[in-house]
Amino acid sequence: MKMDQIDDILPDGRLFLAGEWREGTGAEITSVFPADGRVNRVLRGASAADGQEAIARAKAVQADPAWRVLKPHERARHLYRIADGIEANIDRISMIQSCDTGKTLRETAALAASAAGTFRYYGAVLETMDDELTAQRADSLTLSVHEPLGLVAAITPWNSPIASDAQKVAPALAAGNAVLLKPASWSPLTALELARIVEEAGLPRGLFSVLPGAGREIGNLLVEHPDIARVSFTGGTSTGRMIARKAAEKLMPVSLELGGKSPTIVFDDADMDLALAGVLFGIFSSSGQSCIAGSRLFVQRGVYDTFVGRLVAATRALRVGHPFDAATQVAPLIHEDHRREVAAHVAAALEAGAELLCGGAAPEGDAYAGGSYYLPTILAGVKNTDRICREEVFGPVLAVLPFDDEEDVIAQANDNDYGLACGIWTSDFRKAWRVGRAIRSGTIWHNTYKQFSISTPFGGEGDSGTGREKGRQGLRAYMAQKSFYTDMTGAPHPWAADTVRAT
Ligand code: NDP
Repeated sequence: MKMDQIDDILPDGRLFLAGEWREGTGAEITSVFPADGRVNRVLRGASAADGQEAIARAKAVQADPAWRVLKPHERARHLYRIADGIEANIDRISMIQSCDTGKTLRETAALAASAAGTFRYYGAVLETMDDELTAQRADSLTLSVHEPLGLVAAITPWNSPIASDAQKVAPALAAGNAVLLKPASWSPLTALELARIVEEAGLPRGLFSVLPGAGREIGNLLVEHPDIARVSFTGGTSTGRMIARKAAEKLMPVSLELGGKSPTIVFDDADMDLALAGVLFGIFSSSGQSCIAGSRLFVQRGVYDTFVGRLVAATRALRVGHPFDAATQVAPLIHEDHRREVAAHVAAALEAGAELLCGGAAPEGDAYAGGSYYLPTILAGVKNTDRICREEVFGPVLAVLPFDDEEDVIAQANDNDYGLACGIWTSDFRKAWRVGRAIRSGTIWHNTYKQFSISTPFGGEGDSGTGREKGRQGLRAYMAQKSFYTDMTGAPHPWAADTVRAT
């Protein structure tokens, strides 16, 4: 596709706000193509007044019986239509997302397909999830039922927009809520394309708004607004912590999917080819811009030299290139500012005594001019207590460390504030079970990495956040549980029965 053809498919920059397409009245946002620095779109973000209007409209539409009391199978149809709409537009969404984020087309097509699957899954969950008749302990019929919360704010990061948007929007809509989605300022276009598809699916107008805009302004408005009943947030730990404080003030439930510094562990009995491919994919796919990136690698001492030698050779052979090139494995980082931050992490590690095994710079050559590329980087000679092993880099930077035995590696892996994911490479299933159970982490992968399933819950421990997304219970997170007692005796309560008879 030529660049002028791409321009035709990029959203025009209007926001989908309170049921209409229109210009925002907030500050300008610039979406840049990270492969060459070309400007995709300059748009006006949502102002506080735009946010207030979207919230007021969402409140009215959500409370309308046309949406609120739809039967589950009727509401599910909307989700299936959105899934169909995403599937019919995978190439287009993929192109928009690659322009917005610099990710390879292969990856963004997979993310779009997974977003369609997420809407379809939550339609199916909605149709098949039963409320409960609870065990009867008195003369009442007792039921546990679930109601929508009302208005949900979804605040998402730039690294996998369509997938993280769907992960929040699908269960929140399925649960009967209205949703206000605030995408990251570096990637506003993908969420606007989702809005187009949601609109075509025929949802009541105003039930879903997309509000690009500065986090400190529009994000903060959503978090603090009294009509927002829940915030589902994915992003950095410091932002998450601030949102949690504000949510505590309002006594509002939040889910926080935050950062990570995930360990991958290679035991000496591992299938080395399997481990090598998994470790490479775990840290360098998405150019390391992934919360679950396996950024701390522990290799058992007996195989350390051989494994790390092969790893460095394989890393040097990775194809760093343009997101539209089907051969590319490592695409540019999201933004020049982010590349500077990644480079600063590496420079600080080298200053602190780390040994650079490969990478550590931007690639050279005309093909990379203007793009925010950074070479896959491996650092050795570090301690698990060093900053490079404690702070999330969110780029293609791997720290490698040796370990002696199970006890040693469990202690090192757990000696970290994060607890999002962990990879274990061993041919011994019992060992994987023992080690996996002992490591503080929301997800354990054994002989695989970065595998996802919408039916399997996802979330973190410690600084990686609280709450779980995905899975059947992911729907309930967006609902209020209500207990319902119905008297089955037809007799006045004994406490007042005499009094009542005497009147
Ligand atoms: P940020 O926390 O900076 O931003 C995430 C979102 O929050 C953006 O939409 C941002 O808006 C918004 N935001 C920023 N400040 C506020 C505020 N004061 N109130 C409300 N919203 C605000 O993270 P990044 O965008 O830098 O994303 C990278 C981070 O996300 C990494 O740390 C990564 O680990 C984490 N992440 C976690 C995942 C998980 O599932 N655990 C998955 C993917 C990423 P704006 O862009 O306008 O600043």
